[in-house]
Amino acid sequence: MALTDIPASVSTYLDKHHAHFIDGGEVNSSGGETISVVDPSSGQPVSQIADATLDDVNAAVASARHAFESHAWQSMKPAQRAALLHAFADRIEANADQLAMLESIDGGKPIALAKPVDVMATVGAFRYYAGWADKINGTTNNISMDGEHHAFTLREPVGVAALIVPWNYPLVMAGMKLAPALAAGCACVLKPAEDTSLTALRLGELAIEAGFPAGIVNVLTGRGAIAGQALAEHPGVDKVAFTGSTATGKRIVQAAAGNLKKVTLELGGKSPNIIFGDADLEKAIPASAMGIFFNTGQVCTAASRLYVHRSVYDQVVDGIAGVAGGLQVGHSRDYETLIGPLISARQLERVSSYIETGKKEGGEVVYGGNRIGDDGFFVSPTVITGVKNDMTIVKEEIFGPVLVAQAFDEMEEVIALANDTEYGLSSAVWTKDISTAHQVARRLRTGQVGVNQAAVADWNLPIGGYKQSGWGRENGYDGLANYLQTKAVAIAL
Ligand code: NAD
Repeated sequence: MALTDIPASVSTYLDKHHAHFIDGGEVNSSGGETISVVDPSSGQPVSQIADATLDDVNAAVASARHAFESHAWQSMKPAQRAALLHAFADRIEANADQLAMLESIDGGKPIALAKPVDVMATVGAFRYYAGWADKINGTTNNISMDGEHHAFTLREPVGVAALIVPWNYPLVMAGMKLAPALAAGCACVLKPAEDTSLTALRLGELAIEAGFPAGIVNVLTGRGAIAGQALAEHPGVDKVAFTGSTATGKRIVQAAAGNLKKVTLELGGKSPNIIFGDADLEKAIPASAMGIFFNTGQVCTAASRLYVHRSVYDQVVDGIAGVAGGLQVGHSRDYETLIGPLISARQLERVSSYIETGKKEGGEVVYGGNRIGDDGFFVSPTVITGVKNDMTIVKEEIFGPVLVAQAFDEMEEVIALANDTEYGLSSAVWTKDISTAHQVARRLRTGQVGVNQAAVADWNLPIGGYKQSGWGRENGYDGLANYLQTKAVAIAL
């Protein structure tokens, strides 16, 4: 194992005392408490971040409110906002190596992937929404009220947006919310996950370098139950955009009720991946393996439930187990690594306990199932067969590299099995029959369907959940509309 060296710009950043980023600069937590930042590859602390108090939350929201209402922001032309978003993308790209290394150390991202995947996708989010910033238009409306009127609509920013994101794609999740919020003209308080806050803090600094007015991008680090909850409750916040677990999503809905703030939720999933007997297995097998094992299974849309037609079941399961066996699992700073560690000791415990539950319930581990090494939070890619839909490991989101597989015989049967879940985020179907593909795609109750592919992600394609996988859609115009509200104006002539 040869580890990539940590450049000086990164070690200096890790060593530094991290405060919140509020009103264009660093602001120490009023409580002085910190949270340890752990490298999931070693299990060792590498830095620390500020643990927000309620006073810190109030300061961040006040900063965003002040900036939102400022002349500088309100009078900014749409084309200027577009230019700022492009400048933000440029600053991220210019710092790509540093951000990739931070994401690798803080979030366990394989260093070979952190830049092309995490950093460049984030750059893409800002460039994509830069394109929308000067194309936000209302309508002119022919109305039938008595008299003559000129009626039209204005599309206005919702106001102060709290953006609460998880640890699995820290930069991408931040970009997915910041970019449309800024394009719409909102002011933001970004609350990264306590496990992965370092790159979010850098985004705060880069927003200022790009030229955003102070207070438009604030970054508050701290615990979900305190800082996240306080943001969701805060009367000064107009909108919460949240990505995380379904359980936390439900708490956010309750917390947001106080001032009826607008809420969008991107929540968990347990996505079915259906392989018919006529599928191109040379493509389906490796893609289905990566559909669950990529990012160590810590992907909301992970293709975690595999349904294979009985005629090719053994071949597919053996094939996926074979792919799993060939994946390089290892330290995130090893350039050969394809699958890094889980994010934390807590997540390792959670995934391991699901594997044990699966075995107790009668599942057969045909590949993996074990922790790897004693340092860091590594678990082997795992394939479990002999499962049924009523088993815990088939019902609940594991958020780790664990695939549960079962065979089916009929299309009607597999549609029912696939839809038999409280989640509805994503799904995939593999077949060469165009009629089967269309029928199944229409009947799956999920926000996304991949046909002959297990992973679908594009800034111009909406993502979001049916059922308990969420409220609303992100990406595309839908993602921008989350941060806009409509004002109707009717002028009597
Ligand atoms: P989590 O819900 O525990 O935490 C997510 C964020 O919410 C963190 O920033 C956390 O600090 C904050 N938070 C925690 N409790 C809070 C509260 N009471 N009020 C406000 N904020 C609070 O989720 P996680 O374990 O960090 O992330 C994993 C989950 O995220 C998985 O279920 C996964 O499916 C989901 N996820 C969904 C998507 C999607 O697009 N649908 C993307 C990535 C992750």
